This record gives sequence, structure tokens and C-alpha cells, in this order.
Amino acid sequence: MDLIKDIDIISAEEAQACDYKTTADENTGKSKKLYIESYGCQMNFSDSEIVASIMKENGYDTTSDFEQADVIFLNTCSIREKAELTVRKRLSQFQNAKRNKPELTIGVLGCMAERLKENLLSEEKIVDVVVGPDAYRDLPNLVAAAEEGEKGVNTFLSREETYADIAPVRLNSNGVTAFISIMRGCDNMCSFCVVPFTRGRERSRDPHSIVAEAKDLFEKGYREVTLLGQNVDSYKWSPEENNKARLNKKEEEVSEVVNFAHLLEMVAQVSPLLRVRFSTSHPKDITDEVLHTMKKYDNICKYIHLPVQSGNSRVLELMNRTYDREWYLDRVRAIRKILGEECGISSDMIAGFCTETEEEHQETLSLMDIVKYDFSYMFFYSERPGTLAAKKFEDDIPLETKKRRLAEIIAKQTELSYERNKMDLGQEQLILIEGTAKKSDQQLKGRNSANKVVIIPADLAKKGDYVKVKITDCSPATLFGEVLEVNPVLA
Ligand code: SAM
Ligand code: SF4
Repeated sequence: MDLIKDIDIISAEEAQACDYKTTADENTGKSKKLYIESYGCQMNFSDSEIVASIMKENGYDTTSDFEQADVIFLNTCSIREKAELTVRKRLSQFQNAKRNKPELTIGVLGCMAERLKENLLSEEKIVDVVVGPDAYRDLPNLVAAAEEGEKGVNTFLSREETYADIAPVRLNSNGVTAFISIMRGCDNMCSFCVVPFTRGRERSRDPHSIVAEAKDLFEKGYREVTLLGQNVDSYKWSPEENNKARLNKKEEEVSEVVNFAHLLEMVAQVSPLLRVRFSTSHPKDITDEVLHTMKKYDNICKYIHLPVQSGNSRVLELMNRTYDREWYLDRVRAIRKILGEECGISSDMIAGFCTETEEEHQETLSLMDIVKYDFSYMFFYSERPGTLAAKKFEDDIPLETKKRRLAEIIAKQTELSYERNKMDLGQEQLILIEGTAKKSDQQLKGRNSANKVVIIPADLAKKGDYVKVKITDCSPATLFGEVLEVNPVLA
């Protein structure tokens, strides 16, 4: 198979593709219908669940058909240019719906709303409300005003808001796995990244509300929670202060500090039958304390998403990642020492950052060979207005070169994923069944602790079961297993 050739035919657009999710149909007898389309990261999908909850309280059921909706929200992403272009294209597709139903309210939420603010109203005439990620409590007011013909914008960024008291309405749920937001915002200033500007300062959510949400999910039959944040290892909460920068300044004065290792332990103790995952870990923040906590609890999954972005120390410095190649490799050695070879590690990679040379790109490939990632999300650099990189550096790598480097990274990752999957052959592993496999309803899909998809025959187990399997075959993306035992004792 000529991988490079195959991958080289990926268009620039496809390589930066944007997935979206929509709301499902829910009919609890409310008078109005809400349709949300969510783009971008898992945090955004999780925010849509908060938005649905707020709107539900105000008389809206969700729908999967935008033509049935009274309100359409696009919860948007700004991380790459392609993400914003996709949303603009989608807005133009809603023009007909608005023409047929002039009372329809259309709102742009999330990062693009925060970045463009009221400019969006003049640029995209069909938009009625523009609401940033910290202003969702104001949505019912803004929608009510829009129904009266007023356009509304709220892009206030809060220093404290965590929506801790709002019980999310689970959208697109398989009933087995769920996401719990544990913090908001980001205080890092990676030079390529728009997130600190669109999602504000870092705040941590009350751990007691996180544990209560995990317990509630467990009681409802869920068997896995993923704790979400831009930088979960930086989680830091005290009863007196939840804003990270302020808390760091007055740490002596507060009564108690809960860090990420403590939080992980609190959630792991909800039940040995509740799996715990987390994402994303920043290499500068992941501590041995977290790794030891992971080791201590069988139900904390042995998988770490540890984005490196580049394997070259000069590029990492330009990116303002605050670690270098050696620091990163030291963290990987700590993971291997404490959690062993079987711990899954994945990454994010950016190809063709400003001034990146061929040799520096080769260092990304060589680092991938050393770490042997199970999986990576791979992108080419997309300059974002207002970021440090946009202000300081020229976006000087030609698109063709970015694409070629990205193709080489993707080819390397495909090789490594296959290599890592082959290491699992013959192993006995515990998987949690999430539902029917995509390709056949004669098969079930589960995940092992390292977050790899494992396919088994459908006849012996069902969704929500833990199954002990023996891995019998694999492809670069998937493992195949034979059932040894269904719901073994896990206490
Ligand atoms: N907080 C996470 C971290 O630091 O690892 C990442 C959050 S960001 C939503 C997800 C990924 O998008 C980043 O890790 C990076 O690889 C990619 N990304 C961010 N800005 C980008 C840009 N301007 N161009 C290309 N990729 C970008
Ligand atoms: Fe963006 Fe860096 Fe924050 Fe991740 S850690 S969200 S890449 S600024």
C-alpha cells in the first residue's frame, strides 16, 4: 500500500475537516423546538448540553430537524480557519428556512461568537443572537428579545462562571459514556491558539458538583465519564476562589486546595464499576502524582492525551508551549515507568508552523517514533487573527509544503497505530460495550482501558456490559476480540 500517495490526495479542506453533531428529538410536551448544531472540540459538545438544559427550563424541547425548529443555534469553533468557513457556509444554507419562517431565531454561539462579536450581525444578516461561551444563562432573554425583532449580543467573558449548578441534558448519548466539564478557559498562551481569547481565563468547577454529576450518571446506568478541560492537569479549586490566576496569588489564605490528582481520586471512588477518563493533559502540567493516582485505581483508564504539537524544541518555543523535546520525552518516560507499556498515549500535531524547517519537521517524525503514539489528531497550521503567532511571525510555509508534511505525519501515525495494535494481539483485556459496531449489527463495539476500539460478536453481550476479551486480530484503527467472560467481578 502506498500510504503517502494515498494520503497526499487529501485536499486541504478534508485534512482540516470539521465534524458536527446535532440535537436529537426529544418530546416532553414543551411548546417550542430547539435545534443545535455543535462544531469543534468535546468541550463545545458538552456546552451544547448546558445550553439545551437552560432552554429546556424555558419551554424548549430539542429536535433533530432544523425545519421543525423555532430556534436554531450553531455552537461554533474558531480553532482553524476551515472551522469558521464551515459555519458561514452552513448559515447561508439556513437562509431558505428563515425566508419560509421569518419568526425563526438563529443564534451563533461559542468561540466564533466570542471572536467576532457584533460584527457577526452585520456580516451574516440572518443571525439574530450572538452569544459567547460564558453568557449562556442569558440565552432565554436574548431569544425572547429576538422574537420581538431585536438583535442581541452577549460576549461577556466571566472570571468565575462554570455552570456548576446546571444539569446538562445529554445529547447524542449512548447511555453508557458521558462527558463532564471540570473547568473552563485557558491561561496558557500557545502562540498559534485562539482559545484563550474565545474562552477566557481558567476556572475550576466545584469538585463536589463534579462528583455529584458522576454519581447521578452512574445511577442512571452510565459506566464511563470523561473529565473535560483544555488543560485538566492544571485543575485547582478552593472553596474561596475558583479562578486559577487569583487562587495562585492567595493560596496561603484559602481553607483547602483540590488539585487534579485529588479530583481524579474523588471521581474514581464513586464506584469501581464507573470508568474514569480525562482530556486534555498539557505536558507541562501532568505530574507523577496524577500518574500514581491512575495506577492506584483500576477504574481510571490507562490512557493519556498528551499533545506535543511539534518534536522540535525551537518550534515549541515559538509556539510558547513552555516545554521542550527533552521535557516531553521525560514525561513519556515517567508514564511508561509508572503505568507501563500498555498505557495508551495520543497526541495533537501541527505541521508547518511558522519558520519550521525540513529538519525540524523530521524531528516531529522522530519523536513520534520514540513515543509510539497509539493515535493522533493531526493538522496543518492555520493562522488565526489576533493570536501571538499572527502578530509576531509570518505564516511562511507554503500550503503544499504544510500538506506534504501533514501527510508524512499521518502516514507515520498510521504505521505506529498498527504497530501498537499488534502488540495487543493475544492479550486479555477488559472492554466496556458502547453499542453496535458501525459496520455490522452482528457486532458490538467497546473500548479497552487504552481507549482503543475493540469489536466482538454481538450475541454474547450487550450495551453497558464489561467484557473480558482476548484480542485475536487488528487493523491500524481497530482491535478484534473473542469473548472470555461477560461482566466479571470488578470490585
Ligand atoms: N488544550 C489542548 C492542548 O493544549 O493540547 C488543545 C486544545 S485545541 C482545541 C486542539 C488542537 O487544535 C491543539 O492541540 C492543536 O493541535 C490544534 N490547533 C490549535 N490551534 C491551531 C491552529 N492555529 N492551526 C492548526 N491547529 C491548531
Ligand atoms: Fe490553546 Fe494552548 Fe490553551 Fe491548549 S493549552 S487551549 S493549545 S492555548
